[in-house]
Amino acid sequence: MASIEMSHIVKKYGDGFPAVNDVSLDIADGEFMILVGPSGCGKSTLLRMIVGLEDITSGDMVIAGNRVNDKAPRDRNLSMVFQNYALYPHLTVYENIAFPLRLAKVPDDEVRRRVDEAADVLELREHLERKPANLSGGQRQRVAMGRAIVRAADAFLFDEPLSNLDAKLRGQMRTEIARLQRRLGITTVYVTHDQTEAMTLGDRVCVLRKGVIQQVASPRELYEQPVNLFVAGFIGSPPMNFLPASVSGNALQTPFGAIELDEERAKKVSGHDLLLVGIRPEYFEDASLVDEAKKPRGTTFTARVDVTEWLGDAQYAYIPYEAPADVTEQLKELSRELDSDQLRTQAVVSIDSTSRIREGREAEFWLDTRKVHVFDPKTGENLT
Ligand code: ATP
Repeated sequence: MASIEMSHIVKKYGDGFPAVNDVSLDIADGEFMILVGPSGCGKSTLLRMIVGLEDITSGDMVIAGNRVNDKAPRDRNLSMVFQNYALYPHLTVYENIAFPLRLAKVPDDEVRRRVDEAADVLELREHLERKPANLSGGQRQRVAMGRAIVRAADAFLFDEPLSNLDAKLRGQMRTEIARLQRRLGITTVYVTHDQTEAMTLGDRVCVLRKGVIQQVASPRELYEQPVNLFVAGFIGSPPMNFLPASVSGNALQTPFGAIELDEERAKKVSGHDLLLVGIRPEYFEDASLVDEAKKPRGTTFTARVDVTEWLGDAQYAYIPYEAPADVTEQLKELSRELDSDQLRTQAVVSIDSTSRIREGREAEFWLDTRKVHVFDPKTGENLT
């Protein structure tokens, strides 16, 4: 097992804009680190530089204490698990797992011992004589990981291993990978663009955008304390609502009424005229279901419900709002971080499935104002 330390890593393809731009990231021994971000953000490039499949333009890559920039992939003792697991169809499970040991000319009895050991950990004992074609997707995944274990690789690297699978199998395999990684405690770097995988698998998640790290944090911290508009909008489904707001005294004027800020937060937003308020759908509740004692801790407002979606365990309601056109225009100009469709004219709220709100009618909503985020539309920074 090993730590992976990256410092000021840059990757340029030709003369273009750097695909990875000054990335410094330390992955601890035994840690499960997720690299996530939209298409083209540089996550695969970063992973390929760790493995050695891509040259590093500048910066230092240190694995298990050794600088590996100039080391060939085979000398890095890492194990990459590919999307299709790269199993040999004509070989049995036993021989697939044994493969790296055969290459290294390990004696037969030693091969037997190490394959048996890996098969025990991975619960593959009964399947050792089968061919990959006769295994389930989960079993194939385990064989691929078995190959990594027998080699005693320092780290596992995964590049979107589940992206070709249907939703159900993806869910199963996700659990399988999480269970195995915890059992084996091997340092793992996992690339995905799927935020569910990112949030459920990792000890920590590194969010990338245009080759630059936006935030590295536990899934919970990422969700509750996103550092900027990009992370706030990227993590969470349905996504966070961003509403225009102006500041007056200690309050924010929003399309859903005034939000009073405590002294500390008011101080942080002072000096700004226009802001964006970030509200996750679940910060709203159907006001008729909220305890009277709790109500003063938030704000209650009336809005017309456009559409509802009932999901069994919750329901979403879409509530249109009006923001003054000049404010919206000004915000679009200001905010480089925001796609214009994120500045919608309706908010999505997630409320209890027992709520009796109706489409086309007005309803009272309660908003937990202590939880709202306030962003600087110019820099995208979370000010609160
Ligand atoms: P995806 O999720 O779509 O795989 P990604 O986040 O993994 O995207 P990368 O594949 O790392 O992104 O690509 C980062 C940037 O580098 C992209 O703009 C891409 O077009 C560019 N790029 C990647 N590989 C090459 C290459 N071999 N030559 C030139 N440009 C490349």
